[in-house]
Amino acid sequence: MMLEVEDLPARVIACPDCGEVQELPELHGTGKSECWRCRRVLERASGRSLDAALACSLTTLLLLFPGNTLTLFRVSAAGLIRESRLGSGIPVIWSQGWPLLAVAIAIQGVLLPFFRFGLLTAALGAIRLHKTYAWIGPAFRWAERLDPWAMPDVFLFGCAIGYSRIAPFVPIEIDAGGWCFIGAAFMSMMTRASLDRQAIWKRIAAPEQAQGEAICCLDCLMILSAARQGEACPRCGARLWRRKSFSLPRSLALVMAGYLLYPVANIYPMTVDYQLGMPQEHRIIDGVRELIQAHLWPLAVVIFAASIAIPLLKLAGLTWFFISVYRGSSKALVTKTKLYRIIDAIGRWSNIDVFTIAAFAPLMQVGQLLNVVVFPGAPAFLTVVVVSMFAAQAFDPRLIWDAARA
Ligand SMILES: [Zn+2]
Ligand SMILES: [Zn+2]
Repeated sequence: MMLEVEDLPARVIACPDCGEVQELPELHGTGKSECWRCRRVLERASGRSLDAALACSLTTLLLLFPGNTLTLFRVSAAGLIRESRLGSGIPVIWSQGWPLLAVAIAIQGVLLPFFRFGLLTAALGAIRLHKTYAWIGPAFRWAERLDPWAMPDVFLFGCAIGYSRIAPFVPIEIDAGGWCFIGAAFMSMMTRASLDRQAIWKRIAAPEQAQGEAICCLDCLMILSAARQGEACPRCGARLWRRKSFSLPRSLALVMAGYLLYPVANIYPMTVDYQLGMPQEHRIIDGVRELIQAHLWPLAVVIFAASIAIPLLKLAGLTWFFISVYRGSSKALVTKTKLYRIIDAIGRWSNIDVFTIAAFAPLMQVGQLLNVVVFPGAPAFLTVVVVSMFAAQAFDPRLIWDAARA
């Protein structure tokens, strides 16, 4: 028999950001419980049922199929009609000598959304049917882990930026695939908003009562006895550690790589446009300038923030945390933890510029007239985004609190 939320024993969990063990108050309807020490939201009751999340996830999954196979945009230039599908930029970028960049875009833009929403729909569907299969916990864990890496919403923003850049010059129309993809991206955001994660974890398995010193599963927030360190979490299958293993060296190495590549990404052009054979370099800052010249101020601000300011803020913020741990600082602990959460959450939005290239490069191959070629700035930039996302995930913010206490 499945345990109802009300039947559960004491609702004790450990905060994954500061390590504090605390009991959560019972939530009714909508509302949220925050960690009293670092203000992390530990539980958010969306007020929506499991059915709503399942419906949103299934709709996203179904819309991804036409969104990936039908035509997104159609432009008519110089008497030729050119079409772009979601994946059409991938072979173009590959053939221009950047196979790794093409593979990374294919994984983030095409493959991972299918995995994320496939796993999520399967897990929520099985819970809805009151099944107790052992794979439900790991499937829901992987669906949640893939959430930041599956980027239909970021891809959509990249398409919108590219669209507003070229629409004044070339007639461009959104086709059936484009509308389906807009629907999928919108529903992916609705899915995130309607998921009541703690309620779902509780329906997968009730938390155990830990004895003595406790450790916390970072994926499902279950509290377990510290003797189980190194074992798999009984609810979600994640490996249990008191703190993320090798957190500081892993995160530090990735941040160093980010610092080395950040100037390369900004100095070198992302693409070079050949218009009637005349090259025109296109660095990230040129994109911002063009949007300002076209009086698209809000988009210029978004691109400046996402592509130039956020990657630097992430590297600088993580450096601040390393220094804080090294010196055992006890200052601004809540501010640092809040900044960590922002850094961890917004990193994916830096991918907008790369997705703009992926969606619009195939439209911009018009023989001798116009040709867009990818330059080293683009792979360098994508690498900065990816290593800084991994660096933020590798860092364990509880180390800041441990060091302050020591
Ligand atoms: Zn906390
Ligand atoms: Zn777990």
